Amino acid sequence: MLDAKKLKSQFPILKREIKGKALVYLDNAATTQKPHSVIKALTDYYENINANVHRGIHTLSEEATEEYEQTRNAVAEFINAKEEEIVFTRNTTESVNLIARSWGDKYLKEGDVIVVSALEHHSNLVPWQTLAKRSGAMLHMLEPGDYRLPAQTKLVAITSMSNVTGEKPDLKTVVANARALKALVFVDAAQSVGHEKTDVQELDCDFLAFSAHKMLGPTGVGVLYAKSEILKNIEPYQYGGGMIKVVEDLSSTWADIPGKFEAGTPNIADVIAFRKALEFLTEIGLENIQAHEKMLHEYAVEKFSTHPEVTLYTSPGSPVISFTLDCAHPHDIASVFNEEGVAIRAGHHCCQPLMRRLKVPATARISFYLYNTTEDIDRAEIALKKVISIFK
Ligand code: PMP
Repeated sequence: MLDAKKLKSQFPILKREIKGKALVYLDNAATTQKPHSVIKALTDYYENINANVHRGIHTLSEEATEEYEQTRNAVAEFINAKEEEIVFTRNTTESVNLIARSWGDKYLKEGDVIVVSALEHHSNLVPWQTLAKRSGAMLHMLEPGDYRLPAQTKLVAITSMSNVTGEKPDLKTVVANARALKALVFVDAAQSVGHEKTDVQELDCDFLAFSAHKMLGPTGVGVLYAKSEILKNIEPYQYGGGMIKVVEDLSSTWADIPGKFEAGTPNIADVIAFRKALEFLTEIGLENIQAHEKMLHEYAVEKFSTHPEVTLYTSPGSPVISFTLDCAHPHDIASVFNEEGVAIRAGHHCCQPLMRRLKVPATARISFYLYNTTEDIDRAEIALKKVISIFK
């Protein structure tokens, strides 16, 4: 079992007060806080190494390149991929857009079907909607729990964990059903990679995307995993410096993968600091994080369920719990929580199709990570009681 109280002390921001009260941070599905080691890696980089990567002969550039590539190696190891299959992007959203453009524009045509699920975040929906419009392909939305694919399916784009309810689609079935049709599978793993073990080989997905900022790393770093055979055969997403092999006057050839997909100066400092986040998570162990979150989930569900005004939307053991109250709008709930020093999120969570299915315009959402404690949940319950007493 991990010691959340001890871990908390390694996150400088968690010492803050909000409205005169110790901050309780329960908005981890939006972004996680950063440990001191990650923050220090950023300043260390700028104070000691700062140089552009891949081009210089001088020591600083060599060191920056080495550190940058070491993170690629660490990411590959973290999800059991090969280094050449790891592309650094800005975030999950950019990773989705990259494949929608580079793979989708090449392979999709009229009559083909792109399958998404009703659980998707807009980031794993809107790029496929627009690809469908460009290519003439049809978009098909699966209801949660339904994995039947139309015969013309060419791609299934699906989340590994809902950022609203924590629900985890059965990805094994999705991949098996897609394989039967020779369709590819894109997994939006933004909510799961920092919370449970991901093995892309075991899962056998074709693409997988996630963001460093949701797993203790800095903002501005996303990961796209794609099988190397696919990456080799698709066009770059952006063009310019850093991604070429030879530039003639009137045409060019592309660098080998993954460089072909990393045009321009990358986010060097943040990528380098991301390695410290991966080290932090590895040291604690994802299985311990998952067990801790399961305990918090059970504790929170028990506390919140004692209030008949509350409706919960969640999945057993997950780090995400959405809820609504008959008497108060989610925005009012989040405002009162904030007055109590408890940071939670309210809104549609970039999941409007799911909100329609839940028949609510919005929910309030608490989401945990490794530094949250049962005392944090107690504080959330105090805030909840205050909301009920104000609005009832
Ligand atoms: N997918 C899911 C499931 C998410 O929760 C999020 C972030 N809320 C995203 C995609 C988008 O991530 P980013 O904003 O880092 O691109």
